[in-house]
Amino acid sequence: MEEVLRGILAGQPARDYQVRVPPNAGTALTNRLWRAAYERFTAPFKRRFYADGRCNRCLLCVQICPAHNIRLEDGQICFADRCYLCMRCIHQCPQEAIQIGRSTVGKFRWRGPEGDFDPLRLYGLQQTGEDD
Ligand code: SF4
Ligand code: SF4
Repeated sequence: MEEVLRGILAGQPARDYQVRVPPNAGTALTNRLWRAAYERFTAPFKRRFYADGRCNRCLLCVQICPAHNIRLEDGQICFADRCYLCMRCIHQCPQEAIQIGRSTVGKFRWRGPEGDFDPLRLYGLQQTGEDD
């Protein structure tokens, strides 16, 4: 492990240390089954994402979604079906406007260890004001 860390810190690409697992028909089938079960279990959550009336279209969520799952369409924030369920948008939306159905309304949002995490400042975005 130490050797790997040294190599990476010295600029060696991390992929040089990857260990390939030989293909195995049983593993591949198990992986497919787990994936299908996961997709089936999570699909209802992914379909229930929306931005409520507090959204001021600052577009932070569009920029930070690692799955490129969020876009602005006809002035509304829309969610596609590529969501990783990472919860990044939910916790970083400055307006706490992103919800999963009713289950997240009024619920805790992570604001950093000191409670003062300001993603708009971090990403160099400005508040656009209400509905402008
Ligand atoms: S981060 Fe929140 S306020 Fe900003 S565009 Fe997305 S849903 Fe709207
Ligand atoms: S939960 Fe993560 S992947 Fe899903 S829409 Fe939000 S930021 Fe994107």
